[in-house]
Amino acid sequence: MAEAQRGKLVVISGPSGVGKSTVVREVLSRFDGQLRLSISATTRAPRPQEQDGVHYRFLSSEEFRQRRERGEFLECIEVFGRGHWYGTLWSEVRPFLSEGIWVLLEIDVDGAENVLQQFSDPISIFIRPASFEELERRLRARATETEESIQRRLSVARHEMQLADRYEFQVVNDTVPQTVEDICNILTDRGLAHD
Ligand code: 5GP
Repeated sequence: MAEAQRGKLVVISGPSGVGKSTVVREVLSRFDGQLRLSISATTRAPRPQEQDGVHYRFLSSEEFRQRRERGEFLECIEVFGRGHWYGTLWSEVRPFLSEGIWVLLEIDVDGAENVLQQFSDPISIFIRPASFEELERRLRARATETEESIQRRLSVARHEMQLADRYEFQVVNDTVPQTVEDICNILTDRGLAHD
């Protein structure tokens, strides 16, 4: 298949609480059918409202390990500071790229590094908070986290933001509509067609 007909990988990372999921959902809706989200596998427990196969594929540690040993993951990692495994399954990526559909991976910085080493032309985007204080305010506003978990997320965020310059693009999430616009512009510039 000619290279030009194949889909591209889009890798998006950013600290927890930066508003990634909202932005990603909106970006996906702008390119319906042309761009799809890879559903990651994880060993962490589902949060309230999260559905298996929609937000993640929730696997036991044993099943995750077996699938890892069978080589089913494009990348997988015990995500920094979380103590759970997360990974991108080849089955979420390969069949779509070969159909010319672009695949968006919303993964952590270390997983992204792994993908960047395996693929020559992914589009990598890091979403930054307007400031570290703003990130802390957003994490606290969620009110779903314990103080310990907030502190852990903030220390992970510091680690992630130190690695942001490995990404081709950095977008500051001042407002969701502007961030969505910025990302859509990056993707259309790279050849992804709008609906
Ligand atoms: P959460 O548990 O809050 O949903 O996600 C925790 C972190 O795991 C986030 O930084 C998210 O980007 C990352 N993550 C989610 N799926 C994957 C994946 O498939 N691979 C990697 N490396 N990281 C992931």
